[in-house]
Amino acid sequence: MCLREVLVRASRRLYSGRTDAVLASELLLILSNRGSLLPPVVSEWVSSAGSCKGRCFELEEAKPPGCRCDNLCKTYYSCCSDFDEHCLKTAGGFECTQDRCGEERNDDHACHCSEDCLERGDCCSNYKSLCKGETSWVQGDCEEIQSAECPAGFIRPPLIMLSVDGFRASYLKKGKSVIPNIHKLRTCGTSAPYMRPVYPTKTFPNLYTLATGLYPESHGIVGNTMHDPVFNATFSLRTREKLNHRWWGGQPVSLVIPLERRILTILRWLHLPDDQRPYVFAVHSEQPDTFGHRLGPLSSELDNPLREIDNIIGQLMNGLKQMNLHRCINVIVVGDHGMEEAHCDRTEFLSNYPLNIDEVTLIPGSLGRIRPRDSPLNSLLQCKMPTQHFKPYLKQHLPKRLHYANNRRIEDVHLLTERKWHIAKKMPEKLRTRCGFFGDHGFDNKITSMRTIFMGHGPNFKFKNRVPEFENIELYNVMCDLLGLKPAPNNGTYGSLNAMLKEPPHQPSMPEEVTSPSPASDSDAALTHDLGCSCDDELSRRVHPSECVFVWCYCDLTGVCVCVRADNTHLPFGRPAVMFETQYSLLHHVEFISGYSKELAMPLWTAYTLPRQDLTPVPDVSPGVQCIRVDSRVSHDHFSMCNLEIWNYLQGTLLRRYADENNGINVLAGPIFDLNYDGLRDTAEKIKEFTADGAPPVPTHFYTVVTSCQEQNQTVEECDGALRVFSFLLQHRADNSEACNNAEEESQWVEDLLKLHTARVRDVEILTGLDLYRSTNLTYTSTLSLKTYLHTFESDD
Ligand SMILES: [Zn+2]
Repeated sequence: MCLREVLVRASRRLYSGRTDAVLASELLLILSNRGSLLPPVVSEWVSSAGSCKGRCFELEEAKPPGCRCDNLCKTYYSCCSDFDEHCLKTAGGFECTQDRCGEERNDDHACHCSEDCLERGDCCSNYKSLCKGETSWVQGDCEEIQSAECPAGFIRPPLIMLSVDGFRASYLKKGKSVIPNIHKLRTCGTSAPYMRPVYPTKTFPNLYTLATGLYPESHGIVGNTMHDPVFNATFSLRTREKLNHRWWGGQPVSLVIPLERRILTILRWLHLPDDQRPYVFAVHSEQPDTFGHRLGPLSSELDNPLREIDNIIGQLMNGLKQMNLHRCINVIVVGDHGMEEAHCDRTEFLSNYPLNIDEVTLIPGSLGRIRPRDSPLNSLLQCKMPTQHFKPYLKQHLPKRLHYANNRRIEDVHLLTERKWHIAKKMPEKLRTRCGFFGDHGFDNKITSMRTIFMGHGPNFKFKNRVPEFENIELYNVMCDLLGLKPAPNNGTYGSLNAMLKEPPHQPSMPEEVTSPSPASDSDAALTHDLGCSCDDELSRRVHPSECVFVWCYCDLTGVCVCVRADNTHLPFGRPAVMFETQYSLLHHVEFISGYSKELAMPLWTAYTLPRQDLTPVPDVSPGVQCIRVDSRVSHDHFSMCNLEIWNYLQGTLLRRYADENNGINVLAGPIFDLNYDGLRDTAEKIKEFTADGAPPVPTHFYTVVTSCQEQNQTVEECDGALRVFSFLLQHRADNSEACNNAEEESQWVEDLLKLHTARVRDVEILTGLDLYRSTNLTYTSTLSLKTYLHTFESDD
């Protein structure tokens, strides 16, 4: 059980409040793990009779007909009438001042600076530093916490998760002078240069992803606004429900309440007796998002709201230190998405394109989602101008790395919008006098400005530790680790972030191969000897009969016969393992090696190494080769055509260049079948379902994985350290219409298109059922880190 279960249980209580019954059942559907629909709970709240005196932020919701004083009663209009008076006091402010030190206790104050406040657990968080001369948390040096120092009665270190809305990763550069507390958390704890949100880069999809480790297509919160065709209802999370953060696991404190009060509430809760004290706390700060929208991400005026958030983080850390809990509690500060410049002047209007805009419903903004009203969508699906600032897609054709297709709430037509641009239906009728915003988010999650932050601090995190950037789907597993809970199945790769933790509880291990290659048949074996070489045939011999691994020999340019174990050259990181039941054989060539599937009548994979500045040509890409390498042992008509120009340019020009730039590369390529676009490999039966009788199966995508040595003076074959990798997952289309400028030279558009379709090795693995990098010098955790890395082809900012 982990956060998701906490969340489902919480949601059952969540909707006992007064809320729209349909939405409630709907969200419960989402929360109950994509499964059965729980009946909506209709409000029984009728009365606000009663008092919050002595009940502020009680953890148990009061049952009807009494009124509530818990953290979410505001959101559901079920608080006792004196809730504000008792629970939201602001008198005296949220900090001690010199002249308040040692004051008489005044029950009207928001927090206290009286001598008895420590004992009662309601001091302002700077009480000890200001009134007792202790150093504040931020002024102290980084302190290495050997092991958790928790008071008796704490079974494990509690976790506080503070999410900051719209905190673009580049804000971190403001450093110590603007954000000293964040700077210290980052320096002393574990941090990543940035964390990548999921697409769409909006708050709700991302907060749900953090809480579940699932992509939006799986957790169902596919946007801040959603239409469900089965319920035939539209939900906007921009309304009251947006304020509801109970689903996020732990004990969230509603956004209606000032952030300072929410921090004080967590500190109070930590003071509760052992049997009442929660172990997970979640706070969400709406800043700096609001100011980021209003001012734009590059405005220097953002410094002030950033200072304010930082100060509140300081209050939290000081409060913990004051209670002597700073060596006990794990604190995570995490963003939901970044912020990009935007302006009303940069808006594309659908009305300027040849379609009847009255026939469609558009969810507008930094991405466009289109629902047709009965009409066919074909007219929408083509580029109209080479310079247009959005690309139209059927959702199943969106880059696979976005994982944004497999949910009925994702509209069939999607407009992927260029950074800094918006899409709207038509020009507003009244001329605007001013534009209300200079920033927005929601764009492609690989764009640098959409990056956000992560830092972890506390006894379970490594001290002064940097980990590489990662995706937010990975964090759920880490949170489960911190809480000693078993993660529910999710889209993260468990163990890939082990480098964050001192003692990671889960040690991942390489999965067992499901199907090893069958020995090639006699005829295959005979052919394998025909290596196009005039060396002594005796040298070409089988060295490992069961795996059919050959030594192959060739005459080099000076006429000397060179023999190499084929696998080492073309498979320097081991043979890809096949993780499903099938039959395939290895086919060896001088220039490449492939795992050939009889079932699909094509190779599952083909691998080859291209040395730098090599005189040997890139393995044959004659016109007979159509995306999947043709093998002379196999009839040609089993190969499907694909976007040949793209493929040829990749093979003929780009790979050669990558080899030169990287001191040689290893290439792995092959087909993908995901006909039902669920993001998983289709089984042979599934493929048959989608294929006409007798017709050869046609892949939906093709993958290419390019690996080189991080250390540039080592070749890819001799590499003994870290590896570099990027991969492409290119959709198999009949034409090149996806690139709006495809009429230009290939060099103009092919590389851009490939970079758009960049993917993680893990994406390739899940879609192919292969397991790569099985023989390297890397630890398995580093291998997972390599597999979950996405090369964005974006520059840093
Ligand atoms: Zn926002």
